[in-house]
Amino acid sequence: MEAPSQEAAPLCKCGECDQIFIDLNPQTDCEEYPCDGLIELELLGKGENSFYGCPTCKTDSFLQDSKL
Ligand SMILES: [Zn+2]
Repeated sequence: MEAPSQEAAPLCKCGECDQIFIDLNPQTDCEEYPCDGLIELELLGKGENSFYGCPTCKTDSFLQDSKL
């Protein structure tokens, strides 16, 4: 058996703080990239108004798809 390869996930980047995150709410045809050591987007807001956003900036306004 080979060792399992690195985890892969769609990534996004916050244009405000320039940090890369694991995108928990990706578009369906996103490419996946190794995500070792990256943190996930934070679920912000409450109930129906909740959304995944940058845990530092507390918004999803600056998120964009990222390619490493
Ligand atoms: Zn940010």
